[in-house]
Amino acid sequence: MKKVLLLASMVMLVVSCGGDKKQTEETTAQTETTPTPAVEETPSDVVLAQDGKEVSIDLSGTDQMTYDKKEIHVKAGQKIKLTLHHSGQSPKTAMGHNFVLLKQGTNIADFANQAMQAKDNDYIPKDSKDIIAHTKLIGGGESDTIEFDAPEKGTYDYICTFPGHYAQMKGKLIVE
Ligand code: ZN
Repeated sequence: MKKVLLLASMVMLVVSCGGDKKQTEETTAQTETTPTPAVEETPSDVVLAQDGKEVSIDLSGTDQMTYDKKEIHVKAGQKIKLTLHHSGQSPKTAMGHNFVLLKQGTNIADFANQAMQAKDNDYIPKDSKDIIAHTKLIGGGESDTIEFDAPEKGTYDYICTFPGHYAQMKGKLIVE
């Protein structure tokens, strides 16, 4: 009886393997014959401006020390609900991320230097006049949501202030 069962499961294994292989081949063939779309697509790291009084924006930080969005467009007067996710697994002490939106004219290197020294405040310099809005510092699997009003029209930098991250983890909030 045991032998029969074993044989049956082996047959099933072979059948299911064969099926998978066929499916993979079909998928590959389909991908190869699909023509490249002529329409220019928005790069995935750009968020286009949405209509409405309130807009929701999702931004992710990764274990590779990157943001998934490099450019976020909003409209003047909108209320922005921004959620920062950490899609990685590293703890915040090793690969912490935040979102800090800076006023125009802020020297990013100087600001990041100040922030680096504010470890006891999750790398947010206390009483800084350069910050428009910021999330808390989060680790892998965590998220934090903040709400703030879009500043006046213009381009604003956002960075992660965890030591050493701002050179790579930066983007632009563009208010249209
Ligand atoms: Zn970071």
